[in-house]
Amino acid sequence: MLPPPEKKPVPTPLPEEAVKPVDWKDYRDHLATADQEGHRVWIYPRKPHGRFTRARTWVSWLLLAVMFIGPFVRINGNPLLLLNFLERKFVILGQIFWPQDMIISAVTMLVFLVGIVIFTTAFGRLWCGWTCPQTVLMEMVFRKIEYFIEGDAHEQRALNKAPWTATKIIKKLGKHAIFFALSFLIGNTLLAYFIGTEQLFHIIADDPMNHLSGLTFMILFTLLFYGIFARFREQACTFICPYGRLQSTLLDENTIVVAYDYKRGEKRGTLRRNVPPMQRRHDGFGDCIDCYQCVTVCPTGIDIRDGTQMECVNCTACIDACDDVMDKIKRPRGLIRFASLNGIERGERLRVTPRLVGYAIVLLALIALWMVLVFTRSDVEATMLRAPGSMFQMMPDGHLSNLYTVKVVNKTSREIPIEFKLENVKGELQVMGGHIVVPPQQLAENSVLIGLDPKLIRHGKLPLVIGVYSNGKHIEAIYTTFIGPRDDRDHDDKHEHD
Ligand code: SF4
Ligand code: SF4
Repeated sequence: MLPPPEKKPVPTPLPEEAVKPVDWKDYRDHLATADQEGHRVWIYPRKPHGRFTRARTWVSWLLLAVMFIGPFVRINGNPLLLLNFLERKFVILGQIFWPQDMIISAVTMLVFLVGIVIFTTAFGRLWCGWTCPQTVLMEMVFRKIEYFIEGDAHEQRALNKAPWTATKIIKKLGKHAIFFALSFLIGNTLLAYFIGTEQLFHIIADDPMNHLSGLTFMILFTLLFYGIFARFREQACTFICPYGRLQSTLLDENTIVVAYDYKRGEKRGTLRRNVPPMQRRHDGFGDCIDCYQCVTVCPTGIDIRDGTQMECVNCTACIDACDDVMDKIKRPRGLIRFASLNGIERGERLRVTPRLVGYAIVLLALIALWMVLVFTRSDVEATMLRAPGSMFQMMPDGHLSNLYTVKVVNKTSREIPIEFKLENVKGELQVMGGHIVVPPQQLAENSVLIGLDPKLIRHGKLPLVIGVYSNGKHIEAIYTTFIGPRDDRDHDDKHEHD
């Protein structure tokens, strides 16, 4: 007989005071961009000024020029960058990559992944703040237009609270019309990287009914970018971007990030004019005067004094804001600066450590390998396989024949005539239709008939080496197998073996 089931203990309800209330002053308990009900808190970052903002502006102009001019740049007649997933054709720095370039694609992925890991471990999210297209476009284009039309943070706040007057309607309509036009431009630029400028202009100029899929992508990209830059904004970095999520596993105490020097800054306290600096230090106060200037400029709405946070994109706006405050109160700049946690704790200045040098060497070695592979690969890639389902044939002249399918990829932007020669055996090689001329950046497919003396075939097959030539110049060798009947010698060999 089974024992009676054990009674489950009834959990004692926790007294109300035992439940820890959410501390909304503690950044770890909530997002900077959400209120207690989970509603979006709109960020109004103050316009940043200073040496880092100036440097970022110059870098951004350069990157924007590269981004918008990129699809029109040609190297040896090929685009600078083309990622045509539909036709499986990829061009990087004018070099065309085909699905046949598997090794190069694998090394490219390796360089990309190792580069991200190494760069982030060493320099944190420098990429996010300085070069990511999302940040560059948001902070250097869309935000600047917003400042120009609606004014600085406090004016934008006031405008949003104000009733809908004619001025407000004109400002809002004007801003969103410009945002939409820019989103259209960005969407088309992205499309040009996917399908090429020629195809893009063809879609624009031709009858829309002939390019419904292209037009759909155009509209989708435009709406996507408008949605991101007009509404979604910093949430693309804090919620969506997988790179941002990865950084928490990649940063360590030696990573250089935008950091607040808490040793120098704490204990924070407002500056009192009648308290001399010596007295302030004697009272245990640090250099942070709790002015919140670093918080008001932050485009992700965080307080860098809470430590390194997932939302920080290393945009350096808080460095400029705090340096400005330090200048005004006559304290050294750099209370917020690029530093590692170890740097701050030990008071060391930023230095290039052997670890950083090692990382840089590994990355450079991988890039060098990639470049060697890219610039030494052949212009033509050929494969020859026996035609599916075909068997050997006995020809009227007593020769045996095999039928093959040959595929030749031309990776250049010029026509390439191709010839084949049997290299390891005497026989006949006949290209159906005469000869092969592969058009630029195309794949040519043809049939080839090879005829051999049956005496050459041992054990029913013979490995073949076929030379690929263009205008008499040897390009590469390809390997295949010729099949024939298993002859008597096979049986003799078998008996000997037994
Ligand atoms: S700007 Fe500088 S001084 Fe002002 S609160 Fe931030 S860290 Fe402190
Ligand atoms: S904390 Fe500073 S560096 Fe980080 S996102 Fe905010 S302003 Fe930029």
